[in-house]
Amino acid sequence: MADSSRLDGRIALVTGASRGIGAAIARALAADGAALWIAGRDMAALADTAASLRQQAEASVETWRCDVTDAQSVAAFAQAVSDGPGRTDILVNNAGAAASAPFARMEEHVWRHMLDTNLTSVFRVTRAFLPLMTAPEGGRIVNVASTAGLIGMAYVTAYCAAKHGVVGLTRALAKELAGKRITVNAVCPGYTETELLAKAVAEITGKTGLGEDEARAALIHDVPIGRMIRPEEVAAAVRWLCGPDAGGVTGTAVPIAGGAVG
Ligand code: NDP
Repeated sequence: MADSSRLDGRIALVTGASRGIGAAIARALAADGAALWIAGRDMAALADTAASLRQQAEASVETWRCDVTDAQSVAAFAQAVSDGPGRTDILVNNAGAAASAPFARMEEHVWRHMLDTNLTSVFRVTRAFLPLMTAPEGGRIVNVASTAGLIGMAYVTAYCAAKHGVVGLTRALAKELAGKRITVNAVCPGYTETELLAKAVAEITGKTGLGEDEARAALIHDVPIGRMIRPEEVAAAVRWLCGPDAGGVTGTAVPIAGGAVG
């Protein structure tokens, strides 16, 4: 019997899929049969991700250069999907970046960059692709927020404000699209083993003189499971939210945070 929870025939877009959590999400969706459009700025890294997806899952994968902070770049991506398959069923807004500084030293250009990359990007990409979410079965939008979208964290005010914004956007848009069978949810990872985390650890060691192990221990001090999250764990939650079994779930912000937030 066919597995009705699979994503065969669904067209899925993942931003920031050249590495880290985005690449893991693309892998999980492809493994379930979705046809992927993966986007980012680093075309060589995207090509590597695409090659491994094609090998592992025999997936249909297209790569596209898209800078989510650039409206023209996003519009060109939407046009390419419109000219290609002509619709999208799943949109995962994953692209993001983190910068830290004490609030008093947070410069306005960093503040703007954080809001643009992490929050306005979600508005921009979702607006561009919503008109293509036309399948009668409805659609799925999943935004990769953060535990920083649910609780306050020191030294990352701009990132925290942006990710709280992503959670707010998710909750509001879910209400607006509920009648169209389009669900909108967020996942909120805790510290997850990616390059973004490696850079955060390097910054802590550089600024505090702590060793790498000590810096990592400081980060997981308040995480009840006592370890970082794996990208595959975030991807599994996204995959479920994108599947047919999650049609009744919308407007949620799911922590994948080892108990650090409830
Ligand atoms: P990485 O730095 O490993 O990857 C970030 C991805 O985002 C890359 O694929 C990068 O692609 C893409 N990206 C960044 N800026 C842009 C841009 N302007 N336009 C298009 N793509 C962009 O980070 P993670 O995998 O860790 O992060 C993924 C998401 O998860 C982010 O939203 C992050 O905030 C969130 N998150 C991460 C946590 C962690 O601890 N790692 C915890 C909580 C949330 P390219 O360079 O090719 O453009």
